[in-house]
Amino acid sequence: MSQILIVEDERELVKVLRSYLEKENFSVLSAYRGDTGYSLWEKENPDLVLLDLNLPGMNGLDFARKIRQQAQTPLIMITARVEESDQLVGLEIGADDYITKPFSPRIVVAKVRALLRRAQAERIPPKNLTLGDIEIDIDAHTVTKSGSFIELTPTEFDLLRTLASQPGRAFSRKHLLEATQEVAYEGYERSIDTHIKNLRAKIEPDPHSPKYIETVFGIGYRANRELG
Ligand code: CA
Repeated sequence: MSQILIVEDERELVKVLRSYLEKENFSVLSAYRGDTGYSLWEKENPDLVLLDLNLPGMNGLDFARKIRQQAQTPLIMITARVEESDQLVGLEIGADDYITKPFSPRIVVAKVRALLRRAQAERIPPKNLTLGDIEIDIDAHTVTKSGSFIELTPTEFDLLRTLASQPGRAFSRKHLLEATQEVAYEGYERSIDTHIKNLRAKIEPDPHSPKYIETVFGIGYRANRELG
């Protein structure tokens, strides 16, 4: 069941929206102020936010800005016709859609449905990667080899995930550096060698003659195609 957060100071409007959305089997949270709405958003992580522009506590644009700094929660702005320029600002900030008052609650429900469908489709399904007997669980951020857990640093995990995503493809040190959380500086490309050395020590039976991660002379590294 999708959870919708309504942040709107017109209580009558909240009541109407709530009843329409609940009739459609949505679970509804609501707040009459921007600041309390924001706390609810942080705490509950709803699937979609219906957000009024003019709100006590924190206005809708600041609210939207704060959300977008942290998350891609689908966001529909509720505006009055006189606030047309604010609608544009709202879209620029990253609101996905807007509704102009007065509106029919049916339209709101239709927009909510459409936006949730779109957000669902855009969500990339989590995928597990394998490289021979090594399994990489992207969601859980864990790596096992023949069923036993291997402790990797975040950088080692990123490297292994990147290489195993396309076995046989040679990745340059620069590309690998960019795939990790580390800041990519020209001079730091060689630091990849150290991380690979540490990674090999953890996964290779014989790190001096690696079978999972091969060195590509003059370029970087690749995962063994035959294990992919
Ligand atoms: Ca208002």
